[in-house]
Amino acid sequence: MITRHFAIPVTSPGTILRREMDLGTPLGHETEETTRHGALVSDAIIVRLIEDWLNLHGNDGFVFDGFPRTLPQAKSLDEILERAVWLDVSEETARDRIVSRLQCRRCGFTTSVTSAGFAERPICPYCDGPLVRREDDDVAILQTRLAEFNSKTQPLAAFYEEKSALHRLDANRSREEVFGDISRLIETRSE
Ligand SMILES: [Zn+2]
Repeated sequence: MITRHFAIPVTSPGTILRREMDLGTPLGHETEETTRHGALVSDAIIVRLIEDWLNLHGNDGFVFDGFPRTLPQAKSLDEILERAVWLDVSEETARDRIVSRLQCRRCGFTTSVTSAGFAERPICPYCDGPLVRREDDDVAILQTRLAEFNSKTQPLAAFYEEKSALHRLDANRSREEVFGDISRLIETRSE
């Protein structure tokens, strides 16, 4: 919604890494080797990728999906980051959204069974692909993800609060309401 409305480029470390592997760059080979053995890609590599991406695309603002997730990653962004938006979601909301989430198997479009009557006709509005539940959208897996979040990502809130860059939003509301708040934050930035 944000990228479409404001025409701001978006990326995620996962997307960049897949591209490096597809292109067969030295870095791509290195990360392929790392992930094949089940290890996680190091903060140093992720940070380097993000810096390269920013040099190419980041002149007029950017949105990161899934970055920064750890304190070392956040510190690398320190000089260029203007504000951080923290979406507060209760465990109950997270569980409800995961249980009702549907995703297009072909193009990745994400929606929920409660919106637009997709439950009766689970077909993607963009590519006619089948809308299905994601295999990793399991309540048991949610517990693991929440534990990771609490140990690795939660400390970022204090980090950004200290820099007075943090804006907390109640994300237990509808996506339209949350989007409205985020839009106002982006618009006041350019004034
Ligand atoms: Zn689709």
